[in-house]
Amino acid sequence: MKKKLKDRILIVDDEPQINKMLVANFSDKYDTDTAESVKEAEKKITAGKYALVITDMSMEGQNGLDVIRLVKAKSPQTMVLMITGYSSVEDAVNALRLGAEDYVQKPLDLARFNVTVKNVIEKFHQSRQLNKIQRLFELEKASRAVLESENIGRSMPEILKMILGMFKADSGSVMLFDKSSGQLVVSAAEGISPDIKASIRVSSGDKISGWAVKHNRALLLDSNSGKSRKMFKNYEPRSEIKSSLVVPLAIRGKLLGVLNLNILSGLKRFTEEDLDIITIFSFSLALSIENARYKNELVENNEQLKEIDKLKTELISNVSHELMTPLTAVKGSLDLLLYYTAETPEASKKLLAIIKNNLERQIKLVAELLEFSKLEANKIKIEKTSVDAAGLLREAAEELSSLVKKSGLELKFGFPDKPQLLNADPNRVKQVLINLIANAIKFTAKGYIELSLEGKTESVIFSVKDTGCGIPGEAKEKIFERFYRVDNPVTRNTPGFGLGLPLSKAIIEAHGGKIWVESEEGKGSVFYFMLPR
Ligand code: ADP
Repeated sequence: MKKKLKDRILIVDDEPQINKMLVANFSDKYDTDTAESVKEAEKKITAGKYALVITDMSMEGQNGLDVIRLVKAKSPQTMVLMITGYSSVEDAVNALRLGAEDYVQKPLDLARFNVTVKNVIEKFHQSRQLNKIQRLFELEKASRAVLESENIGRSMPEILKMILGMFKADSGSVMLFDKSSGQLVVSAAEGISPDIKASIRVSSGDKISGWAVKHNRALLLDSNSGKSRKMFKNYEPRSEIKSSLVVPLAIRGKLLGVLNLNILSGLKRFTEEDLDIITIFSFSLALSIENARYKNELVENNEQLKEIDKLKTELISNVSHELMTPLTAVKGSLDLLLYYTAETPEASKKLLAIIKNNLERQIKLVAELLEFSKLEANKIKIEKTSVDAAGLLREAAEELSSLVKKSGLELKFGFPDKPQLLNADPNRVKQVLINLIANAIKFTAKGYIELSLEGKTESVIFSVKDTGCGIPGEAKEKIFERFYRVDNPVTRNTPGFGLGLPLSKAIIEAHGGKIWVESEEGKGSVFYFMLPR
């Protein structure tokens, strides 16, 4: 069982004999300490350490009233008992006015003095109890406000201000872990300049906040204590801090961030009781932050679902439109064929060619959709073997040779002499190349298309360059998204779903590679993709 600690009394008197006598008088009941000057008393009075300070009113060149002022500033809960000169009513009145609990007159009647001390100490305990109840009540109100707050992110500055008020702190911050960097960043701060606020990023273990988080320990620091001074020196270069409370914010063992309060001036210091109360409060704060995160996630998921729903609707309208166009052409040709069937066989041949052409176009579109549905279902299979990259480029160009011929564009090659071996799925890589080359042909009215390779130690970079219409700046990222097509005369007149590039991207990424584009509007584009060897 924890041993009950004796109440602590500080006796301030410039006459050592009196100090000695009082220490002897109290020795079995209280834990006593002495100071022979106001200055020495100032060093000893730290927050919450003494239940009672007994001071003599008149000390050589010093004033006992200063001791009362010190106690009220540094440790407001500590009681003060003033020893005044014989029948010095004025001193007694001044002492009481400054907040002393009681006074006794010299010469001391020890029996009566001891009763007074006992009563004052009793009062100390009662007032502490009352104070605690009041603070717990305040805490309960504050916690409820935090838990009920609609938007914790937005109310964080207000909440922090309220906490600062509760603990009479000068500055403070709530720092939360940033998902992407894993560092603590300021979520709300008071008494800290905005530029410092924006630049503070603390890693676990770094600075005092990082230390508290790393060790998951709440800290009470006071610049008067040697241990805290060392901590401040090693972890916190801000010398203006006199006292700090640093409390990790954690819920169900998960660390979310850290709450920090500071006292920068004056004599007041945080106490163990402050630490207890802020620790209790930190649970409500952590719970609210966690709840807010869940809520945000739900909202985000909801937005994503809405976006997907919109895409699906767009898909249906695009698909119907694209599939309808060739069908209409086929139907028209069939009607004509039926009508003219008795006419020349040449006319019938022409119409049959149109039908075939449009059906092929439709098959291509449907095939792209099917591929895409596989991509959505994560069903794209990659079967890697060792292949020569240059061979793949040539084969892809070969497959599109009639299209190139028809376009009137020049086809150039730029390969290194050595074969460029890599481990990849040849069919899939060829599919990407065909898509990029077909796009280059589609979007280039005149000039050339150049297919190149660059062999690096760890990877191979393929490129397909054209001298076509190019891609406007804002669209360069978007063309790799599903269903995105730049609105221009070419896209308006060529069928497509805007799925070729997203499909290519998925294939390249499934190989652990990367695809990107460099382009200038009106001058042309270069599509690159990198595949690891
Ligand atoms: P689709 O070709 O079916 O439209 P893609 O995903 O292959 O779909 O391409 C998306 C869009 O990117 C195209 O509609 C076009 O606007 C743009 N684009 C692709 N390649 C080129 C290129 N070589 N030059 C100019 N624009 C291009």
